[in-house]
Order: sequence, then C-alpha cells, then structure tokens
Amino acid sequence: MNPFNIKPTLIKLLLVIILVVSGFIFGCETVPIVTKDRSQVEMPMPEVKSAIPAEEISTQKEEEVVVDNKSISKEQIQQYCFSELKKLPGTPASTEELNKICGKMNVYPECYSVNGDPIFHYEQLAKNAKKGKNILTISLIHGDEPASGTVARSWISRLDNLEPRNSWRVIPLANPDGFKKKTRMNVNGVDLNRNFPTEDWEESALKHWKVNKKADPRKFPGDKPASEIETQCLIKHIEDFKPDFIISIHTPYGVLDFDGPPMKFPTFKPLPWISLGNYPGSLGRYMWVNNRVPVLTIELKGNQGVHQLENFDKLQDISGTVAIQATKIINNVQEKTANTDRPAKNAN
Ligand SMILES: [Zn+2]
Repeated sequence: MNPFNIKPTLIKLLLVIILVVSGFIFGCETVPIVTKDRSQVEMPMPEVKSAIPAEEISTQKEEEVVVDNKSISKEQIQQYCFSELKKLPGTPASTEELNKICGKMNVYPECYSVNGDPIFHYEQLAKNAKKGKNILTISLIHGDEPASGTVARSWISRLDNLEPRNSWRVIPLANPDGFKKKTRMNVNGVDLNRNFPTEDWEESALKHWKVNKKADPRKFPGDKPASEIETQCLIKHIEDFKPDFIISIHTPYGVLDFDGPPMKFPTFKPLPWISLGNYPGSLGRYMWVNNRVPVLTIELKGNQGVHQLENFDKLQDISGTVAIQATKIINNVQEKTANTDRPAKNAN
C-alpha cells in the first residue's frame, strides 16, 4: 500500500479526533463553569433560607409583626396588638389576659396608619345599653406618650372582666407609626391633635402654629384639615360610635383638662381639674366647641400611670360618672333651649 494514500486519511482521522476531544474539553466544560459562577452570584442564599415563607423573612428582618391591610385576619390583629401592647411601660397584663383582650380587637378598613399598621379598637357595651353613655377613649394620639397607652391597656383589661354602666370603645394606639418612631407626630410630621377639621381650621390652624407656636415642628397641624389617615380613622369612629363623651389620654402635664359644660367635678387626688383650653385643630375644640360632645383630656404626670394603675382604674369610674352627669346637663340645657323662643336659641 502506498503510505501516501493512507496519510491523508490518517491526518483526517486525527483532525476529527482532535476536534471531538477539544469539543469535550472546552465546549462542555466552559458552559457548566459559567453556569456555576452565575448561580453563585445570583443565588447566594442557602436552600434552607429560601424555604422560609416570605412573611416570616420580613418579620425576622424588621423584628415587627408585619400585616397586610388588604386581607388582615383576626389572628394577625391579635398578634400585632399583642406585640404592640406588650411594648408599653409598666407591668403588662399576663400573657393570657393580653391574648384575650387582643383577640377581641377589631380594625375598620379606614384605620391603617401612613405606614400601613392597623389602628385597632376594643369595645364593651353597657350592661343596660339604654341607660349607659357611649364613651370613646383614645390614647397614644401622640406617639411619644407611652404611659397613656399603659392606662388604656389597663382599662381594657378591666372592662373585659366586668359589665360596665356605660358602653366603652377604646383605641389604645391611635398613632402606631409615631409610637414606633417615638415621636409625638405621625410619620408625615403632623400633630394629629391639631389636624381635626375644626370650623376655624382654614382660618386659624396654620396661623396659630406659626405665630403662637413659633412654627414648632411638634405642633404642625398639617397642610389641610383632616389631611392625615389617622385623623380620618378617629373621625370614622366618632361618626360610627356616636360618643356622648370622649376621653383622650396624654402625658405629662399632670391635670384633668375638661372641655364641656360647667359642672362640679368629683375629687381625684393625683390630678387636679384644670382647664388648659383648646386649640384650632384639637380634638377638644372639634368635639366640644363645634359638636357639643364633652372631651376629658387626662394629662398624666410623667409616668404616673405606670406606677399607680389602681388610681387610674378609679379615674375610669370617675370619668364614667362625669360622662353621665355632663350628658344630663347638656340634655337639660337642650330641653330648656327647645322650650324658649327661637331667637334665644340662636343667641346661644
Ligand atoms: Zn399629648
């Protein structure tokens, strides 16, 4: 055989072998190497972590109970309420007690803060609904007054274990974002207790803030009356529950500040009855001056509420009595007014 005839065949064979082998060496290996590198860059989480549901991951990250306000369940409200009320100063109710009251909380669809946290409420109706008055109690409208929430928490526990004279609705955490941030204002920097749509808001609220309060950012009333979602939630409660009497719990001035008809007050040694007056956009002016619903503003002295809860339980009973008496006075005045001539009514 002529070797020259074989050589080209051999060369061809060799070339084919080299191509096939290099295909395996470079072609096949290069692809998996790239995939491996990409997978390391894009999927750094170990498999165990990615198996945790998204909800739990966000809870772990923020160390808060995260709720979806579009589909909040009773269990989520209970869990959120439990975590927030537990943060309040003072000795909390037992786990069982806290769970029990939180299991009875409700949330209106309108009642989510700017950051989406639920503004939950508790309700206990009077033993005799016809006789009892509707008392709306609000605490922590200013987020940096946690002792006010402690008193409200204690009142709810108490209401839950008795048949009250009056019907009570309690909103213990009216400004959840401010409470989390430890600020008086909501997350938009608005003082919710200057944001109520009082009749004089447009004319006076911003002027009063700039001139009398020297534009103190802690007292900013907002750009418009009831501009804030938290204020709108409280107005929804007022419209729906139709309170005869409102109690707003604050700190730290150490007084009982009453916006209502002139009357004799029962003695309460820890806090004197002193009228501080009300302001454009405040709850007191909105409800008493504009709507004839008395407002009792309890100004705890510092953290007094935390250490003397028995005293403040007594104050709950005193407030109930004041609510009944004040309503009686208002009704008497209205009756008398109705019996006199129309011009006299207008003069009022
Ligand atoms: Zn306050």
